[in-house]
Amino acid sequence: MFVVPDERHGRLTARAAAFAAQFPTGPGPDRHGDFDRQAWRRCADYGLLRMPLPADGAPSGTSLCEIFAVLEGLGYGGLDEGLLFALGAHLWTIILAVRDHGTDKQRHLYLTSLADGTLIGANASTEPKAGSDVFALSTHATRDGHHYVLNGTKTLITNAPIADLFIVYATLDPTLGPMGITPFLVNADTPGLNCGAPLDKMGLRTAPMGELTLENCRVPAENVLGREGRGVKVFTSAMEYERVGLLAPSLGIMRRHLEACTAYARARHQFGQRISQHQAVAHRIVDMRVRLDAARALVYRAAYLKDQGMPASQETAAAKLYVSEAYVQSSLDTMRIHGGQSYLTANGIEVDLRNAIGALFYSGTSDIQRNIIARTLNL
Ligand SMILES: Cc1cc2nc3c(=O)[nH]c(=O)nc-3n(C[C@H](O)[C@H](O)[C@H](O)COP(=O)(O)OP(=O)(O)OC[C@H]3O[C@@H](n4cnc5c(N)ncnc54)[C@H](O)[C@@H]3O)c2cc1C
Repeated sequence: MFVVPDERHGRLTARAAAFAAQFPTGPGPDRHGDFDRQAWRRCADYGLLRMPLPADGAPSGTSLCEIFAVLEGLGYGGLDEGLLFALGAHLWTIILAVRDHGTDKQRHLYLTSLADGTLIGANASTEPKAGSDVFALSTHATRDGHHYVLNGTKTLITNAPIADLFIVYATLDPTLGPMGITPFLVNADTPGLNCGAPLDKMGLRTAPMGELTLENCRVPAENVLGREGRGVKVFTSAMEYERVGLLAPSLGIMRRHLEACTAYARARHQFGQRISQHQAVAHRIVDMRVRLDAARALVYRAAYLKDQGMPASQETAAAKLYVSEAYVQSSLDTMRIHGGQSYLTANGIEVDLRNAIGALFYSGTSDIQRNIIARTLNL
């Protein structure tokens, strides 16, 4: 059942890594939290955002396994992770949601511009009082003739300050519970939709994040994504993609960690020998290697199942749970092995730990992934 990434995947990864290596590096953008629109465009021109869409005449787009091979390469090649995260949020929760759940008209209207880098999307589900319990959201949509009127607040929304298009989840009637939740496509310039100042955050600093308020925001009825009451279905399928898709670049980053730590541990001497000859250091590197192998296996197993159209809620949750925790551990181990120098921001080592910690929260916390897996086990 599990597909081992093959030579073709290896070539895709290597090519993407070479592309990523062309981008300037340095601590500046992370320090200032600058979003790089030109780099976004270059990634779109590279074809990243149109990969899941069928080319003319083809029945389907590129497989998830192949898209992940590319993302792994971009992570390995050192493409800024904030940018990768912003691209991933757009790809997995907006492009795929419109592709899979939009009407013909919505697909026609939005997909080309979302894929060619013209439009940036943001997925707005989390609210101040509804995070993990997302279907308890209170943003309300009231029908008024040919429109819906949206009121509510969304928070922690990736891309909100730069987005042209939002998918906003709202309830038509809180007494209907999850059945009432409906996704709406809302253009950023719609009167009544306001995004506050970008939220300053610990990591992924080049991926802008914001809070959204909707005050009597009138949205045409035809902007319901798919149809009324489809919110849970759209959200669940977006999260299944996002859980693995957002973490795919971290496979490449963990590979980079492993190589950097191996080289450093061979070169650095303490107590008259290479630090790699101290068993504690060697074992730490061995554990990094084993975690990386396990992480790759879980990610590509989930991708393979989804490519086959098979259910994968347990496998995507398991991949998210394991890889996010492994990524944090790998970033921390990399710092330990490089010693005190890793604590200096100028050396660019600590940034991965700050970025990795975000993975413990987005697309559902580790506790929530365990809850999903427990449900699939009928516990
Ligand atoms: C970098 C980043 C990007 C994000 N991007 C987006 C975005 O683009 N769009 C969007 O809508 N949201 C986004 N979020 C929000 C994210 O989805 C939420 O932070 C996440 O769902 C957790 O919700 P919360 O922060 O309100 O925590 P809470 O739900 O309040 O959880 C607090 C703690 O309680 C635990 N907990 C809660 N319920 C349970 C339970 N049933 N069982 C066990 N433990 C539980 C949690 O695991 C956690 O440890 C982003 C968050 C981050 C950090």
